[in-house]
Amino acid sequence: MTLSAYRGKRDFDKTGEPQGAPIGKLRRSSTGRFVVQKHAARRSHYDFRLELNGVLKSWAVAKGPSLVPGEKRLAVEVEDHPLEYGEFEGNIPKGEYGAGTVIVWDKGSWRPLHDPVKSLAKGHLEFELQGEKLRGRWHLVRMTPKPREKHQNWLLIKGDDEAARTRQDADI
Ligand code: MN
Repeated sequence: MTLSAYRGKRDFDKTGEPQGAPIGKLRRSSTGRFVVQKHAARRSHYDFRLELNGVLKSWAVAKGPSLVPGEKRLAVEVEDHPLEYGEFEGNIPKGEYGAGTVIVWDKGSWRPLHDPVKSLAKGHLEFELQGEKLRGRWHLVRMTPKPREKHQNWLLIKGDDEAARTRQDADI
């Protein structure tokens, strides 16, 4: 867990995004919060973030999550973000990394169903969300990497439970 990739991409004199406090001992071995930020960048997408061991593990979901069980949404793994990023809303100035507007689209708590570090390493994380829009059981499944692919691709998939929706009333 490191924020060097995150910090290396940004000029904190120019962007209002948080630099993030050092990852302290107290923050280790923790899960807890999740946040989804809608990011109107060059390509609009949703940033899906799960708090784990002092950072926000992060994926960019182009189409956003689907409440329809089994419907796969591509989630591209991006760099760990600082916990403080979970509250960030605002405009990233032109010329800076991720230029565009960020709003918090959903937030709440998450709970892994198995050891989260082992699950991520294995490439299948099963978890529950308690948010306003996103609830119930979810899966993140890592796809087999293709050669020369810069980022690791995952699939974000809703589990079949009472928080799931059918195709007809899936709007969120
Ligand atoms: Mn983004």
